[in-house]
Amino acid sequence: MLTNWVVMPTCLPLVLRRCHTCASDRFRADGRFRVNANHKLLDIWLLVLCTTCGETAKLTVLERTHVRSVRPGLLDRLHDNDPALAAELLQDPVVRRRNRIALDWNDAWRLDTGGSAHLDREVIDVSVRFVARIPVRPVRLIAEGCGLSRAEVERLITEGNLVSVARLNARLSGDFTFTLKR
Ligand SMILES: [Zn+2]
Repeated sequence: MLTNWVVMPTCLPLVLRRCHTCASDRFRADGRFRVNANHKLLDIWLLVLCTTCGETAKLTVLERTHVRSVRPGLLDRLHDNDPALAAELLQDPVVRRRNRIALDWNDAWRLDTGGSAHLDREVIDVSVRFVARIPVRPVRLIAEGCGLSRAEVERLITEGNLVSVARLNARLSGDFTFTLKR
């Protein structure tokens, strides 16, 4: 029987970016945007606030883009200050590259194992799904989900009792499966 685990965001990740006012390097998005229209050309920014001094910075979402090429629904969601849209844009690699930012997902996600029934079985097959591309080490997820220490998880890998095609010690942010025998 396959057990399904889900890695899901609990809030927006922090944005790693240097503050010009106080030298902090963490910003928080709260789902506010700014739109500037010049004839038919739009500039759209996602606003982020320095977590230390509150200074506002703008992350470019679209630059001098013709209103007709803005995807349908986007403007309504911008005007509603939709936090789900902020989450979507922060996870967009194009937006991240354009603004030279990275994300800090610490304390911004949780693992949902759907209960503890799997803990009693001798062999468990687990499929782990990521709702967002959150970089985590599988050993950490497996330790948390199975109530083991990381050292115990490492030992199970060494003994060949924990197997996966994914590299369990490296960070990954996409779905994987593993089998654990006790
Ligand atoms: Zn600051």
